[in-house]
Amino acid sequence: MSYVKGLKCRECNREYPVEPIYVCEFCFGPLEVVYDYKGIKKVLTKKVIERREKTLWRYRELLPIDGEPKVGLDSGFTPLLKADKLAKALGIDVLYIKDDTVAHPTLSFKDRVVSVALTKAMEFNFDTAACASTGNLAHSVSALGAKAGFRRFIFIPATLEPSKIIASLVYEPNLIAVDGNYDDVNRLCSEIANKYRWAFVNINIRPFYAEGSKTHGFEVIEQLGWKAPDNIVVPCASGSLLTKIWKSFKEFHEIGVIKELKTKVFAAQASGCSPISTAIKQDTDIIRPVKPNTIAKSLAIGNPADGYYATKVVKESGGYGEDVSDEEIIDAIKLLAKTEGIFSETAGGVTVAVTKKLIESGKIGRDELTVVCITGNGLKTQEALNGKTITPYYIKPNLASFEEVLNKMQNPK
Ligand SMILES: *Cc1c(COP(=O)(O)O)cnc(C)c1O
Ligand SMILES: [Zn+2]
Repeated sequence: MSYVKGLKCRECNREYPVEPIYVCEFCFGPLEVVYDYKGIKKVLTKKVIERREKTLWRYRELLPIDGEPKVGLDSGFTPLLKADKLAKALGIDVLYIKDDTVAHPTLSFKDRVVSVALTKAMEFNFDTAACASTGNLAHSVSALGAKAGFRRFIFIPATLEPSKIIASLVYEPNLIAVDGNYDDVNRLCSEIANKYRWAFVNINIRPFYAEGSKTHGFEVIEQLGWKAPDNIVVPCASGSLLTKIWKSFKEFHEIGVIKELKTKVFAAQASGCSPISTAIKQDTDIIRPVKPNTIAKSLAIGNPADGYYATKVVKESGGYGEDVSDEEIIDAIKLLAKTEGIFSETAGGVTVAVTKKLIESGKIGRDELTVVCITGNGLKTQEALNGKTITPYYIKPNLASFEEVLNKMQNPK
């Protein structure tokens, strides 16, 4: 049984039936899924959720599917780790990491959105799954789509990290590498989506796809012992994850799972592609598109579809936006690895480095419970660290050679 009431335009509130559509015919506003919260409140209690399997489907009444989940049955419920050593390094009392580098089939939070989108695509009877991707979405649609039996068309900027391209190719989709940046790819895909009846997960299936991101937020609240944090720092590409984490918090408040909601939401971007954090800093909701130039390729969307709504959420919640250089991203990846033993991709470096800045500037209080969203695994963007790490000691395979090196070490770690 589904609690979805239908789709609704975020701008003019016109209602639409549940179909693979994504923009309002009247005002071109984006469509969003609306639910029967009164009905959900009666059935979805903390106890009910706690009894269910530890996957993202434990919140299924708040996800836009009609039947049983069909894709990504083991996605989600990633760890929320108390990061005491990182907290100390950043000079804050209590810091948690929501660790989406693990426990997903393709090691990024995109398995959340793809699990929901492809389940919905099956309900809509699509046989072809497609996407416009900055890397992680390509990997996830390639993998989960293979298992679910979809024909797959994956569109990426040709300049993506080689390891992310291989991670998609191994599942043998039709991979289309476009000579252009993500915004060019996305524009092309919108045109293709108008012509072919394919399930473009982040275009015509976007209203359903985006709902999958809410599970990141639901899990944070459940894992904190059914309470919302004081602050949450979220990496932004299109801005969708940030807006959906906020929606998830509001929904848990609405159905009575949490009593209080006063979380501040912070947007994290790379300085080489910061249309959202720049707008927030300038206190405007007008997003000025940019040409991305950063190692954080998974966040490199110059014209973010949900940028406007992301700035609204940040403002409404009392948060802020900040961005960091490529050098700060690398340093933060290494800091997270050294302190917490977590290897994050560049997006996680962005989030940690931004958190550091926000603590230093006093935007995040040192005594406030803060959650940092780490959204993808570092093994997926190892190129970013080429020549940026320490180097191995090279020796001959004998004890003397080892001890020669050992004696030269100033103080072995
Ligand atoms: C896609 C992505 C994000 C954010 O995506 P939104 O478009 O803002 O929802 C964050 N981190 C990683 C690693 C991603 O791949
Ligand atoms: Zn409208």
